[in-house]
Amino acid sequence: MAEKKTEAKKNTGRKPSPAKSAGKKPVAKTSAGRKPAPKKAEPAKTSSRCPVFKKCGACQMIDTPYASQLRKKHARVKELLEPYCKVEAFVGMESPEHYRCKVHAVFTHDRKGNPVSGIYREGTHEVVPVDSCLLEDQKADAIIATIRGLLKSFKIKTFDEDNGYGLLRHVLIRIGKNTGEIMVVLVTVSPIFPSKNNFVKALRKEHPEITTIVLNVNDKQTSMILGDKEKPMYGPGFIYDICCGMKFKISPKSFYQVNPVQTEVLYRTAIDMAELKGDEVALDCYSGVGTIGIIASPHVKEVISVELNKDAVKDAILNARINEVNNITFYQNDATVFMQQMAESGDKVDLVFMDPPRSGSTPEFISAVKTLSPSKVVYISCSPDSLANDLKLFKKAGYEAKRAVPVDMFPFTRGIETVVLLKRQ
Ligand code: SAH
Repeated sequence: MAEKKTEAKKNTGRKPSPAKSAGKKPVAKTSAGRKPAPKKAEPAKTSSRCPVFKKCGACQMIDTPYASQLRKKHARVKELLEPYCKVEAFVGMESPEHYRCKVHAVFTHDRKGNPVSGIYREGTHEVVPVDSCLLEDQKADAIIATIRGLLKSFKIKTFDEDNGYGLLRHVLIRIGKNTGEIMVVLVTVSPIFPSKNNFVKALRKEHPEITTIVLNVNDKQTSMILGDKEKPMYGPGFIYDICCGMKFKISPKSFYQVNPVQTEVLYRTAIDMAELKGDEVALDCYSGVGTIGIIASPHVKEVISVELNKDAVKDAILNARINEVNNITFYQNDATVFMQQMAESGDKVDLVFMDPPRSGSTPEFISAVKTLSPSKVVYISCSPDSLANDLKLFKKAGYEAKRAVPVDMFPFTRGIETVVLLKRQ
Protein backbone atom coordinates (compact mmCIF):
# COMPACT_ATOMS: atom_id res chain seq x y z
CA MET A 1 0.00 0.00 0.00
CA ALA A 2 1.20 3.50 -0.70
CA GLU A 3 2.96 5.06 2.23
CA LYS A 4 0.29 7.23 3.71
CA LYS A 5 -0.26 10.23 4.88
CA THR A 6 0.60 10.80 8.44
CA GLU A 7 4.32 10.35 8.27
CA ALA A 8 5.78 13.75 8.68
CA LYS A 9 7.98 14.72 5.77
CA LYS A 10 10.89 12.34 5.82
CA ASN A 11 13.56 11.13 3.49
CA THR A 12 13.28 7.70 2.05
CA GLY A 13 16.22 6.75 4.22
CA ARG A 14 17.14 6.66 7.86
CA LYS A 15 17.60 9.53 10.15
CA PRO A 16 20.60 10.36 12.20
CA SER A 17 21.65 10.01 15.80
CA PRO A 18 22.94 12.36 18.44
CA ALA A 19 26.64 12.72 19.12
CA LYS A 20 27.59 9.72 21.23
CA SER A 21 29.48 11.48 24.03
CA ALA A 22 28.74 14.84 25.53
CA GLY A 23 31.25 17.53 24.81
CA LYS A 24 32.60 15.82 21.72
CA LYS A 25 31.97 17.46 18.41
CA PRO A 26 29.81 15.13 16.32
CA VAL A 27 31.62 13.76 13.28
CA ALA A 28 29.98 11.70 10.57
CA LYS A 29 31.72 8.34 10.25
CA THR A 30 31.74 5.76 7.57
CA SER A 31 30.64 2.25 8.46
CA ALA A 32 34.28 1.26 8.67
CA GLY A 33 34.54 3.74 11.51
CA ARG A 34 36.87 6.12 9.69
CA LYS A 35 36.31 9.79 9.19
CA PRO A 36 35.24 10.64 5.65
CA ALA A 37 37.79 12.68 3.67
CA PRO A 38 37.02 16.37 4.16
CA LYS A 39 35.45 18.03 1.16
CA LYS A 40 36.81 21.35 0.00
CA ALA A 41 33.79 23.55 0.48
CA GLU A 42 32.55 21.87 3.66
CA PRO A 43 30.48 24.38 5.67
CA ALA A 44 31.40 25.13 9.29
CA LYS A 45 30.67 22.15 11.54
CA THR A 46 27.17 22.16 12.92
CA SER A 47 26.66 22.20 16.66
CA SER A 48 23.57 20.03 16.22
CA ARG A 49 23.07 17.03 18.52
CA CYS A 50 22.69 15.03 15.32
CA PRO A 51 25.81 14.57 13.17
CA VAL A 52 23.91 14.47 9.89
CA PHE A 53 21.20 17.00 10.70
CA LYS A 54 21.89 19.12 7.63
CA LYS A 55 22.23 16.22 5.19
CA CYS A 56 19.15 14.35 6.33
CA GLY A 57 16.72 17.20 6.88
CA ALA A 58 13.94 15.04 8.33
CA CYS A 59 14.02 16.47 11.85
CA GLN A 60 13.53 20.18 11.45
CA MET A 61 13.37 20.61 15.26
CA ILE A 62 16.10 18.22 16.39
CA ASP A 63 17.85 20.92 18.44
CA THR A 64 14.72 22.59 19.83
CA PRO A 65 13.82 21.65 23.42
CA TYR A 66 10.69 19.46 23.42
CA ALA A 67 8.46 21.92 25.31
CA SER A 68 9.35 24.61 22.84
CA GLN A 69 8.69 22.29 19.85
CA LEU A 70 5.18 21.79 21.21
CA ARG A 71 4.71 25.52 21.75
CA LYS A 72 5.75 26.25 18.16
CA LYS A 73 3.51 23.57 16.68
CA HIS A 74 0.63 24.70 18.89
CA ALA A 75 1.03 28.26 17.63
CA ARG A 76 0.97 26.99 14.04
CA VAL A 77 -2.15 24.86 14.46
CA LYS A 78 -3.90 27.70 16.32
CA GLU A 79 -3.11 30.11 13.53
CA LEU A 80 -4.70 27.76 11.01
CA LEU A 81 -7.66 26.40 12.98
CA GLU A 82 -8.75 29.14 15.38
CA PRO A 83 -10.88 30.82 12.72
CA TYR A 84 -13.06 27.69 13.12
CA CYS A 85 -12.71 26.59 16.77
CA LYS A 86 -10.57 26.80 19.89
CA VAL A 87 -7.51 24.55 19.82
CA GLU A 88 -6.98 22.60 23.06
CA ALA A 89 -3.61 21.73 24.64
CA PHE A 90 -1.08 19.85 22.51
CA VAL A 91 -0.74 16.24 23.73
CA GLY A 92 2.99 15.56 23.75
CA MET A 93 5.10 12.52 24.69
CA GLU A 94 6.72 11.84 28.03
CA SER A 95 9.81 10.38 26.31
CA PRO A 96 9.82 11.78 22.80
CA GLU A 97 12.95 9.99 21.46
CA HIS A 98 13.23 6.68 19.57
CA TYR A 99 9.51 6.50 18.86
CA ARG A 100 9.66 5.23 15.27
CA CYS A 101 8.79 1.55 15.06
CA LYS A 102 9.20 1.47 11.31
CA VAL A 103 12.81 2.01 10.28
CA HIS A 104 14.30 2.00 6.81
CA ALA A 105 17.96 1.92 5.77
CA VAL A 106 19.26 2.16 2.23
CA PHE A 107 22.32 -0.02 1.54
CA THR A 108 25.26 0.78 -0.70
CA HIS A 109 29.07 0.72 -0.42
CA ASP A 110 31.95 3.14 -0.25
CA ARG A 111 34.67 3.42 -2.92
CA LYS A 112 36.57 0.49 -1.40
CA GLY A 113 33.51 -1.71 -1.52
CA ASN A 114 32.77 -1.60 2.23
CA PRO A 115 29.05 -1.81 2.93
CA VAL A 116 27.40 1.41 4.04
CA SER A 117 23.84 1.95 5.23
CA GLY A 118 21.97 5.12 5.97
CA ILE A 119 19.78 7.74 4.45
CA TYR A 120 19.57 9.44 1.11
CA ARG A 121 21.03 12.92 1.27
CA GLU A 122 18.10 15.30 0.90
CA GLY A 123 16.95 15.47 -2.71
CA THR A 124 19.68 13.10 -4.00
CA HIS A 125 20.50 9.41 -4.26
CA GLU A 126 23.77 9.84 -2.40
CA VAL A 127 23.76 7.74 0.78
CA VAL A 128 24.72 9.43 4.04
CA PRO A 129 26.05 6.78 6.47
CA VAL A 130 24.05 6.59 9.69
CA ASP A 131 24.63 4.27 12.64
CA SER A 132 21.75 5.27 14.85
CA CYS A 133 19.06 7.90 14.99
CA LEU A 134 17.29 9.80 17.74
CA LEU A 135 13.88 9.06 16.31
CA GLU A 136 14.26 5.40 15.52
CA ASP A 137 13.73 2.39 17.76
CA GLN A 138 17.20 1.46 19.05
CA LYS A 139 16.74 -2.26 18.54
CA ALA A 140 15.94 -1.61 14.88
CA ASP A 141 19.15 0.38 14.51
CA ALA A 142 21.15 -2.41 16.17
CA ILE A 143 19.68 -5.02 13.77
CA ILE A 144 20.58 -2.86 10.77
CA ALA A 145 24.17 -2.54 12.07
CA THR A 146 24.38 -6.33 12.49
CA ILE A 147 23.15 -6.92 8.93
CA ARG A 148 25.76 -4.48 7.63
CA GLY A 149 28.43 -6.33 9.60
CA LEU A 150 27.39 -9.75 8.24
CA LEU A 151 27.48 -8.83 4.56
CA LYS A 152 31.22 -9.28 3.97
CA SER A 153 31.51 -12.74 5.48
CA PHE A 154 28.45 -13.87 3.45
CA LYS A 155 29.89 -12.24 0.31
CA ILE A 156 26.66 -10.31 -0.18
CA LYS A 157 27.24 -7.21 -2.28
CA THR A 158 25.17 -4.11 -1.78
CA PHE A 159 23.35 -2.79 -4.82
CA ASP A 160 25.00 -0.11 -6.92
CA GLU A 161 22.44 2.21 -8.48
CA ASP A 162 24.92 3.44 -11.08
CA ASN A 163 25.92 0.13 -12.65
CA GLY A 164 23.09 -2.15 -11.46
CA TYR A 165 25.47 -4.67 -9.78
CA GLY A 166 24.98 -6.08 -6.31
CA LEU A 167 22.11 -7.61 -4.39
CA LEU A 168 20.96 -5.82 -1.23
CA ARG A 169 19.12 -2.53 -1.69
CA HIS A 170 17.26 -1.78 1.53
CA VAL A 171 16.45 -3.11 4.94
CA LEU A 172 13.11 -2.33 6.57
CA ILE A 173 12.42 -3.13 10.20
CA ARG A 174 8.96 -3.11 11.75
CA ILE A 175 8.50 -3.50 15.47
CA GLY A 176 5.35 -4.45 17.33
CA LYS A 177 6.02 -2.35 20.41
CA ASN A 178 3.28 -3.94 22.48
CA THR A 179 3.88 -7.55 21.39
CA GLY A 180 7.69 -7.46 21.13
CA GLU A 181 7.47 -9.02 17.64
CA ILE A 182 10.04 -7.84 15.10
CA MET A 183 9.98 -8.14 11.30
CA VAL A 184 13.09 -7.68 9.15
CA VAL A 185 12.54 -7.12 5.43
CA LEU A 186 15.60 -7.58 3.19
CA VAL A 187 14.98 -5.86 -0.14
CA THR A 188 17.10 -7.34 -2.92
CA VAL A 189 17.21 -7.11 -6.72
CA SER A 190 17.12 -10.89 -7.13
CA PRO A 191 15.21 -13.69 -5.36
CA ILE A 192 18.44 -15.69 -4.99
CA PHE A 193 19.96 -14.96 -1.60
CA PRO A 194 23.24 -16.84 -1.07
CA SER A 195 23.52 -19.04 2.05
CA LYS A 196 20.04 -17.92 3.00
CA ASN A 197 19.61 -20.28 5.93
CA ASN A 198 22.99 -19.53 7.42
CA PHE A 199 22.40 -15.80 7.07
CA VAL A 200 19.09 -16.13 8.93
CA LYS A 201 20.82 -18.21 11.60
CA ALA A 202 23.64 -15.68 12.04
CA LEU A 203 21.22 -12.75 12.26
CA ARG A 204 18.96 -14.51 14.74
CA LYS A 205 21.95 -15.53 16.82
CA GLU A 206 22.70 -11.83 17.40
CA HIS A 207 19.01 -10.87 17.67
CA PRO A 208 16.88 -13.79 18.85
CA GLU A 209 14.04 -11.29 19.34
CA ILE A 210 13.46 -11.21 15.53
CA THR A 211 10.24 -13.12 14.90
CA THR A 212 10.16 -13.01 11.09
CA ILE A 213 12.48 -12.24 8.17
CA VAL A 214 11.06 -11.51 4.72
CA LEU A 215 12.85 -11.41 1.38
CA ASN A 216 11.31 -8.74 -0.83
CA VAL A 217 12.43 -8.52 -4.45
CA ASN A 218 12.57 -5.09 -6.05
CA ASP A 219 14.29 -5.22 -9.45
CA LYS A 220 12.80 -1.97 -10.74
CA GLN A 221 14.39 1.46 -11.13
CA THR A 222 11.97 3.10 -8.74
CA SER A 223 11.82 5.30 -5.68
CA MET A 224 9.51 2.77 -4.00
CA ILE A 225 11.39 0.76 -1.39
CA LEU A 226 9.43 -2.48 -1.67
CA GLY A 227 8.86 -4.57 -4.78
CA ASP A 228 5.83 -6.77 -5.52
CA LYS A 229 7.32 -10.21 -4.84
CA GLU A 230 8.03 -11.37 -1.32
CA LYS A 231 8.69 -14.59 0.54
CA PRO A 232 9.29 -15.32 4.22
CA MET A 233 12.86 -16.53 4.92
CA TYR A 234 12.00 -17.15 8.54
CA GLY A 235 8.71 -17.07 10.48
CA PRO A 236 5.26 -16.17 9.17
CA GLY A 237 6.16 -13.10 7.06
CA PHE A 238 4.23 -10.64 9.23
CA ILE A 239 4.00 -9.46 12.84
CA TYR A 240 1.17 -8.47 15.15
CA ASP A 241 0.93 -5.42 17.33
CA ILE A 242 -1.63 -4.42 19.92
CA CYS A 243 -3.23 -0.99 19.89
CA CYS A 244 -5.91 0.10 22.40
CA GLY A 245 -6.37 -3.54 23.42
CA MET A 246 -6.95 -4.80 19.85
CA LYS A 247 -4.53 -6.94 17.83
CA PHE A 248 -3.47 -5.90 14.32
CA LYS A 249 -1.55 -7.76 11.64
CA ILE A 250 1.34 -5.81 10.10
CA SER A 251 2.72 -7.06 6.76
CA PRO A 252 5.75 -5.46 5.06
CA LYS A 253 3.48 -3.09 3.09
CA SER A 254 0.68 -2.45 5.59
CA PHE A 255 0.01 1.10 6.61
CA TYR A 256 0.33 1.26 10.36
CA GLN A 257 1.14 4.39 12.34
CA VAL A 258 4.86 4.62 13.15
CA ASN A 259 4.55 5.96 16.72
CA PRO A 260 2.64 3.33 18.72
CA VAL A 261 2.59 5.27 22.01
CA GLN A 262 0.91 8.30 20.47
CA THR A 263 -1.30 6.22 18.17
CA GLU A 264 -3.13 4.97 21.25
CA VAL A 265 -3.53 8.58 22.43
CA LEU A 266 -4.74 9.64 18.99
CA TYR A 267 -7.35 6.91 18.56
CA ARG A 268 -8.60 7.24 22.16
CA THR A 269 -8.93 11.01 21.68
CA ALA A 270 -10.95 10.43 18.49
CA ILE A 271 -13.25 7.91 20.18
CA ASP A 272 -13.70 10.01 23.35
CA MET A 273 -14.50 13.05 21.24
CA ALA A 274 -17.28 11.18 19.47
CA GLU A 275 -19.16 11.02 22.85
CA LEU A 276 -20.53 7.58 21.99
CA LYS A 277 -23.57 6.17 23.78
CA GLY A 278 -23.46 2.68 22.31
CA ASP A 279 -26.46 2.81 19.97
CA GLU A 280 -24.77 4.55 17.03
CA VAL A 281 -24.04 3.43 13.49
CA ALA A 282 -20.54 4.76 12.72
CA LEU A 283 -18.96 5.06 9.29
CA ASP A 284 -15.14 4.78 9.24
CA CYS A 285 -13.90 6.43 6.03
CA TYR A 286 -10.31 5.95 4.79
CA SER A 287 -10.17 3.00 7.19
CA GLY A 288 -6.82 1.44 6.17
CA VAL A 289 -6.41 -1.93 7.95
CA GLY A 290 -9.51 -1.19 10.02
CA THR A 291 -7.84 0.25 13.13
CA ILE A 292 -10.22 3.05 14.13
CA GLY A 293 -13.41 1.12 13.31
CA ILE A 294 -12.24 -1.99 15.17
CA ILE A 295 -11.16 0.02 18.22
CA ALA A 296 -14.47 1.95 18.19
CA SER A 297 -16.58 -1.20 17.67
CA PRO A 298 -17.21 -2.03 21.36
CA HIS A 299 -18.55 1.50 21.88
CA VAL A 300 -21.19 1.55 19.10
CA LYS A 301 -23.99 -0.60 17.69
CA GLU A 302 -22.42 -1.03 14.27
CA VAL A 303 -19.39 0.09 12.24
CA ILE A 304 -19.25 0.37 8.45
CA SER A 305 -15.72 0.86 7.09
CA VAL A 306 -14.74 2.00 3.62
CA GLU A 307 -11.25 1.94 2.13
CA LEU A 308 -9.94 2.14 -1.43
CA ASN A 309 -6.94 -0.19 -1.13
CA LYS A 310 -7.85 -3.87 -1.70
CA ASP A 311 -4.98 -5.32 0.37
CA ALA A 312 -5.79 -3.05 3.29
CA VAL A 313 -9.42 -4.22 3.20
CA LYS A 314 -8.27 -7.87 3.25
CA ASP A 315 -6.10 -7.15 6.30
CA ALA A 316 -8.96 -5.25 7.93
CA ILE A 317 -11.32 -8.25 7.56
CA LEU A 318 -8.69 -10.49 9.13
CA ASN A 319 -8.07 -7.98 11.93
CA ALA A 320 -11.78 -7.92 12.80
CA ARG A 321 -11.79 -11.72 12.83
CA ILE A 322 -8.80 -12.09 15.15
CA ASN A 323 -10.35 -9.62 17.56
CA GLU A 324 -13.71 -11.40 17.33
CA VAL A 325 -15.42 -8.17 16.31
CA ASN A 326 -18.77 -9.02 14.73
CA ASN A 327 -20.46 -5.64 14.38
CA ILE A 328 -18.21 -4.29 11.61
CA THR A 329 -18.45 -4.56 7.80
CA PHE A 330 -15.73 -3.57 5.37
CA TYR A 331 -16.23 -2.22 1.85
CA GLN A 332 -13.62 -1.64 -0.79
CA ASN A 333 -14.65 1.57 -2.52
CA ASP A 334 -13.97 5.24 -2.93
CA ALA A 335 -15.31 6.84 0.26
CA THR A 336 -17.21 9.57 -1.62
CA VAL A 337 -18.89 7.17 -4.05
CA PHE A 338 -19.73 4.86 -1.15
CA MET A 339 -21.42 7.64 0.87
CA GLN A 340 -23.36 8.80 -2.19
CA GLN A 341 -24.59 5.23 -2.73
CA MET A 342 -25.56 4.94 0.94
CA ALA A 343 -27.54 8.18 0.76
CA GLU A 344 -29.27 7.05 -2.47
CA SER A 345 -30.40 3.81 -0.86
CA GLY A 346 -31.69 5.70 2.18
CA ASP A 347 -29.07 4.32 4.61
CA LYS A 348 -28.30 6.45 7.62
CA VAL A 349 -25.27 6.84 9.88
CA ASP A 350 -24.98 8.77 13.13
CA LEU A 351 -21.32 9.50 12.94
CA VAL A 352 -18.46 9.61 10.43
CA PHE A 353 -14.83 9.02 11.40
CA MET A 354 -12.54 10.28 8.66
CA ASP A 355 -8.76 9.89 8.44
CA PRO A 356 -7.77 10.98 4.93
CA PRO A 357 -4.30 11.09 3.34
CA ARG A 358 -2.09 14.17 3.78
CA SER A 359 -3.77 15.99 0.89
CA GLY A 360 -6.96 16.02 2.96
CA SER A 361 -10.44 15.31 1.78
CA THR A 362 -12.24 16.67 -1.29
CA PRO A 363 -15.18 19.03 -1.83
CA GLU A 364 -17.06 16.00 -3.26
CA PHE A 365 -16.42 13.99 -0.07
CA ILE A 366 -17.67 16.84 2.12
CA SER A 367 -20.75 17.28 -0.03
CA ALA A 368 -21.41 13.51 0.23
CA VAL A 369 -21.17 13.82 4.06
CA LYS A 370 -23.73 16.63 3.85
CA THR A 371 -26.09 14.40 1.84
CA LEU A 372 -25.66 11.46 4.23
CA SER A 373 -26.16 13.92 7.09
CA PRO A 374 -24.57 12.32 10.19
CA SER A 375 -24.96 14.43 13.34
CA LYS A 376 -21.21 14.27 14.06
CA VAL A 377 -17.93 13.98 12.17
CA VAL A 378 -14.62 13.14 13.86
CA TYR A 379 -11.82 14.25 11.55
CA ILE A 380 -8.29 12.91 12.12
CA SER A 381 -5.80 14.93 10.13
CA CYS A 382 -2.05 14.84 9.57
CA SER A 383 -1.99 18.18 7.79
CA PRO A 384 -3.38 21.26 9.54
CA ASP A 385 -3.23 23.13 6.22
CA SER A 386 -5.56 20.76 4.39
CA LEU A 387 -7.63 20.42 7.58
CA ALA A 388 -8.21 24.21 7.71
CA ASN A 389 -9.27 24.13 4.09
CA ASP A 390 -11.69 21.26 4.74
CA LEU A 391 -13.12 22.94 7.87
CA LYS A 392 -14.04 25.90 5.70
CA LEU A 393 -15.92 23.61 3.30
CA PHE A 394 -17.56 21.76 6.21
CA LYS A 395 -18.75 25.09 7.61
CA LYS A 396 -20.41 25.90 4.28
CA ALA A 397 -21.98 22.43 4.35
CA GLY A 398 -23.52 23.16 7.77
CA TYR A 399 -20.95 21.43 10.04
CA GLU A 400 -19.30 23.44 12.76
CA ALA A 401 -15.98 22.51 14.39
CA LYS A 402 -16.48 22.20 18.17
CA ARG A 403 -13.18 20.86 19.48
CA ALA A 404 -9.65 20.47 18.13
CA VAL A 405 -6.95 18.47 19.93
CA PRO A 406 -3.44 18.26 18.43
CA VAL A 407 -1.49 15.07 19.26
CA ASP A 408 2.28 14.93 18.75
CA MET A 409 2.81 11.87 16.56
CA PHE A 410 6.14 13.12 15.16
CA PRO A 411 8.39 14.74 17.79
CA PHE A 412 11.40 16.65 16.40
CA THR A 413 9.66 17.17 13.08
CA ARG A 414 7.18 19.79 11.92
CA GLY A 415 4.44 17.15 11.53
CA ILE A 416 1.17 17.99 13.27
CA GLU A 417 -1.71 15.54 13.76
CA THR A 418 -5.04 16.94 14.94
CA VAL A 419 -8.41 15.47 15.87
CA VAL A 420 -11.44 17.69 15.30
CA LEU A 421 -15.05 17.16 16.33
CA LEU A 422 -17.65 18.67 13.97
CA LYS A 423 -21.38 18.82 14.66
CA ARG A 424 -24.24 19.32 12.23
CA GLN A 425 -25.91 22.70 12.86
N1 SAH B 1 -7.47 5.12 9.34
C1 SAH B 1 -6.34 4.28 9.05
C2 SAH B 1 -5.63 4.60 7.76
C3 SAH B 1 -5.52 6.01 7.38
S1 SAH B 1 -4.44 6.24 6.01
C4 SAH B 1 -5.38 4.24 10.20
O1 SAH B 1 -5.41 5.07 11.10
O2 SAH B 1 -4.55 3.34 10.24
C5 SAH B 1 -5.51 6.84 4.77
C6 SAH B 1 -6.16 5.73 4.02
O3 SAH B 1 -7.04 6.31 3.06
C7 SAH B 1 -5.22 4.85 3.22
O4 SAH B 1 -5.39 3.51 3.65
C8 SAH B 1 -5.67 5.03 1.76
O5 SAH B 1 -5.58 3.83 1.01
C9 SAH B 1 -7.11 5.44 1.94
N2 SAH B 1 -7.73 6.21 0.84
C10 SAH B 1 -7.16 7.15 0.06
N3 SAH B 1 -8.05 7.67 -0.79
C11 SAH B 1 -9.23 7.05 -0.54
C12 SAH B 1 -10.54 7.18 -1.08
N4 SAH B 1 -10.79 8.04 -2.06
N5 SAH B 1 -11.51 6.40 -0.59
C13 SAH B 1 -11.27 5.53 0.42
N6 SAH B 1 -10.05 5.36 0.97
C14 SAH B 1 -9.03 6.11 0.50
